Amino acid sequence: SITSFFGPDLTSALQLLGTKYNNLVKKCQEQTAETDQLRANCELLRNKCIQECEPKYEALKKKYTRECSERKRLYNEIIELKGNIRVFCRCRPLSSEEISKGYASVVEFDPSQDSELHVVCSDNSKKQFKFDHVFSPKDNQEIVFAETLPVVKSVLDGYNVCIFAYGQTGTGKTFTMEGTPENRGVNYRALEELFRSSIERSSMIRYEFLVSMLEVYNEKIRDLLTENSDQPAKRLEVRQLPDGSQDVPGLVEAQACNIDEVWEILKTGGRNRSVGSTNANELSSRSHCLVRLTVMGENLIDKQRSRSHMWLVDLAGSERVGKTEVEGERLKESQFINKSLSALGDVISALASKNPHIPYRNSKLTHLLQSSLGGDCKTLMFTQISPSSADLGETLCSLNFASRVRGIEYGPARKQ
Ligand code: ADP
Ligand code: MG
Repeated sequence: SITSFFGPDLTSALQLLGTKYNNLVKKCQEQTAETDQLRANCELLRNKCIQECEPKYEALKKKYTRECSERKRLYNEIIELKGNIRVFCRCRPLSSEEISKGYASVVEFDPSQDSELHVVCSDNSKKQFKFDHVFSPKDNQEIVFAETLPVVKSVLDGYNVCIFAYGQTGTGKTFTMEGTPENRGVNYRALEELFRSSIERSSMIRYEFLVSMLEVYNEKIRDLLTENSDQPAKRLEVRQLPDGSQDVPGLVEAQACNIDEVWEILKTGGRNRSVGSTNANELSSRSHCLVRLTVMGENLIDKQRSRSHMWLVDLAGSERVGKTEVEGERLKESQFINKSLSALGDVISALASKNPHIPYRNSKLTHLLQSSLGGDCKTLMFTQISPSSADLGETLCSLNFASRVRGIEYGPARKQ
């Protein structure tokens, strides 16, 4: 027997080793079963992931592609049908003061035709004007913004955009752009839309927003967001960057993560605007106020980066100063305003008629906006008018200016 062959000590040692071996084999088998189970679980999870995530990823990719083509469709609509330059006309309602003074409306609208208006001249003849869109006094802020939206949205795709309000003081430039707290204008609605769309696209593109605000008064640029509002606002100049684009070195760019932050920034700018002026309303009609939103986008899929500007511009009043008033400071102001508004008109009409020479350098305003006017930039001008018979002269001037800007003139003087 084994005991007699190995002796009792060795035999028990061998038996112990045998048990240990068996235990190890058993443990190993258990471990293998556990590993197999784990592997099976892993496989199960992997399949589940593929089943669940792949369609989600594919759906996101599809959504992204769909969004891209939808945006392209919108651009094509703007570019092919309407061009990069659009001129709107908006007529405010008669004020109660005008009504009580007995002034009547001299502007007529055709409800079936939203691109035409007629002005009844003093000799009772009617002059017709056509624009990309005409808003009557009945059209509210919402309707106005709906027409503005395609232009606004293109900022998120890397296009530069300029939106202007032009017209005589008191015709609703500030109402259209800023609006009132109960009746928000284009600025607020545009920013709200940009933040909303940027959140919607956040799985594909990461956006960052910077806000600047400045004023052009007597051909001088003032930063309205300098830290200390007790100090006079900083004086700035336009400079050409190495890549040929224009910028304003030193201009404050405040970061904003949501619409409330933008609003706080713009309020600061508004307060700085009135520093040093005895009458804020008076000054606001004699200077151009510009808000610049810089949109920086990074596409998380193809890593492409974009940087674009949206300029929201409340222009100085376009009214001509009466001959008797023209003296001193007021004369200088009025010459500067005339110069910059006609320079702006010249630039936009040169762009609209595809003239190879665009006279950007003729005013601070156009020089400042050079990189955002022309090329594939989108330009939208609101021509604001009053319906009142008392403002007939200025209304005709504004409508003629806007028609010239659009590159389309109407009336008997036009020869084909
Ligand atoms: P501007 O900036 O061109 O000088 P405002 O925006 O200050 O003119 O407008 C002058 C007045 O007319 C303001 O009281 C404004 O609320 C009012 N107003 C302008 N446009 C409209 C409109 N479309 N509907 C109602 N009120 C308007
Ligand atoms: Mg105003």
